[in-house]
Amino acid sequence: MRIQVDKERCVGAGMCALTAPDVFTQDDDGFSEVLPGRAETTGEPTLVKEAVRACPVGAVSVTQD
Ligand code: SF4
Repeated sequence: MRIQVDKERCVGAGMCALTAPDVFTQDDDGFSEVLPGRAETTGEPTLVKEAVRACPVGAVSVTQD
């Protein structure tokens, strides 16, 4: 599973970092970033899927490898 944030879409709402703080953070400008080493995960993706739903602009995506 690969987690990505579309920085062109992100408006810095912060819902992803609030929902899954182990996976997402916000840069100095408030835009979301996937934390180093967390772009690929094999664990239970419940919170990541919640973050996908929580993003108001659909900037978070998860793809299966
Ligand atoms: S929830 Fe969406 S818009 Fe908000 S910081 Fe995360 S990716 Fe950006």
